[in-house]
Amino acid sequence: MAQANGGAMPFLISGGGIGGLVTAYSLARQGFPVRVFEQSPEFREVGAGIQLGPNIFRVLEKIGLKDEVLADAHIPPAQEMRDALTGKLITRIPLDQAFMQRFGQPYAVIHRADIHGVFLKACQGSNLITLETSRRVDDFADKGDHVTVTLNNGETVKGRALIGCDGMWSKIRERVVGDGKPRVSGHIAYRGVLKREEVPEDLWRPDVVLWAGPRTHFVHYPLRRGELYNLVAVFHSDHYEEGWNAEGAKDVMWQHFKMQVPQVTRMLERIETWRMWVLCDREPVKNWSKGRVTLLGDAAHPMLQYLAQGACMATEDAVILADRLAASADDPAAAFQAYQQDRYLRTGRTQIMARVYGEFYHARGVTAELRDMAVGSRNQQQSYDGIAWLYGGP
Ligand SMILES: Cc1cc2nc3c(=O)[nH]c(=O)nc-3n(C[C@H](O)[C@H](O)[C@H](O)COP(=O)(O)OP(=O)(O)OC[C@H]3O[C@@H](n4cnc5c(N)ncnc54)[C@H](O)[C@@H]3O)c2cc1C
Repeated sequence: MAQANGGAMPFLISGGGIGGLVTAYSLARQGFPVRVFEQSPEFREVGAGIQLGPNIFRVLEKIGLKDEVLADAHIPPAQEMRDALTGKLITRIPLDQAFMQRFGQPYAVIHRADIHGVFLKACQGSNLITLETSRRVDDFADKGDHVTVTLNNGETVKGRALIGCDGMWSKIRERVVGDGKPRVSGHIAYRGVLKREEVPEDLWRPDVVLWAGPRTHFVHYPLRRGELYNLVAVFHSDHYEEGWNAEGAKDVMWQHFKMQVPQVTRMLERIETWRMWVLCDREPVKNWSKGRVTLLGDAAHPMLQYLAQGACMATEDAVILADRLAASADDPAAAFQAYQQDRYLRTGRTQIMARVYGEFYHARGVTAELRDMAVGSRNQQQSYDGIAWLYGGP
C-alpha cells in the first residue's frame, strides 16, 4: 500500500495547524506524497489546553498515534459542572472504567502544542512529506487533471489536488464556498496557563471543572501530565469584532466574574496576562469540495468550542479523507465528494450543538434552573447516552 501511490504528483496542503499536519501524515501513510505550506515562519501552536473526546482516539489509533498523544496528556477522573453563583454541584460525569467500557477510548486533556508536536514529529519522520514554512498560499487554479498554487514568494507549484487546512478565515474557502466572513458569536474566551505550583492547593482539582454562570462560564483542568493548569473564562460581549490570541484586558473580564464564588475569583486572580479569542463559527454547509480542491477542519466547518471538538473533528476529517483518497486514488475529485458526503452531517451537527451547549452553559434564571434539573437528574448511563452520537463516532 505504502508504495502504491508514491512517485506521483504531491497533494498540496495549505496550512500546517493540527488539521494540516494530521492530514499530511494520514495521506503519507496511504503512500501519497504531500507538500505542506505554512504561512508562519515555524510550525507552532499558540493557545493553551484542549479536551480530546474518545472519538479522536478512535482515529488516532487507526493511524498509530494514540499512544504518542496520550504520553503528554492528562486523563481527568471526571467532568463536573457547578453553579458559579452558589458553588453547588450540578452534575459529575465519571470518565473512569465505565466510560472506557462504554466508548472503548479515553477522555483526555492536552496542551495544543503537545498534540501539534506529535503530528509534526510524525510528519518529519516521513520521507513522503515536505514541510515548508513562510509559504503562504495566495492563489490556486484547478486545471482538471492537476492543480497549481501560487505562493507568496511568487513560485507556482503543481500538485495532484489541493486541501485547504487554512483555518477559520480560510482563503481557499472564499473561492470554494464563498459564504463571506465567519459569524462573530458575541462570546469572548480568555485563556491562561498556570504552573502546578502556582495553583493554590485547595483549588487544584484533577477533573475538568466547568463553572456555569449567567452569560459566563469558566473551565479549568490540569495539562501536560499534571504539570500545568489550564484556565478558560468565557463571557458575552459585543465589544469586540475581531481578535485572535490578542492580549485580553483583565478589568473587562473581571466585570463578568467578580460576583462569582471564591473558587472562581481566586483562580482568575492568579493569571497575570490573559490571551483573548473572539469566538466565531459558521453555518454548516455541504459544498466544501469543488473539483480537485477541498477543505478540512476549521476551514470546512468552524465551530464554537463548547463541545470541545474542533481539533477532534479535524483529525477525524483527515483520517477519513485519506481513506477515501486511497479508495479512489486516480480520481481525487470523486474522493473529495465522498469525503464531504461522509462528513457534513456529523460536523454540521457538532457546529449546531456547540451553539446549543453555549446557551446551556450561560443560562440564567428559570432556564438555568431547568438546565440543572435536566442534567442533575441523569444517572451515569443517561449522561453517556446523551453524548453517544458524538463520542461513539466517527
Ligand atoms: C478557546 C478555544 C478552545 C478550544 N478548545 C478545543 C477543545 O477543547 N477540543 C478541540 O478538539 N478543539 C478545541 N478548539 C478548536 C481547535 O483549536 C480548532 O478547531 C483546531 O485547532 C482547528 O485546526 P485547523 O488546523 O483546522 O486550523 P488552524 O489551527 O487555524 O490552523 C490553520 C493554519 O493555517 C495557516 N494558514 C492560514 N492561511 C494560510 C495560507 N493562506 N497559506 C498557508 N498557511 C495558512 C495558519 O497559520 C495556521 O497554522 C478550541 C478553540 C478555541 C478558540
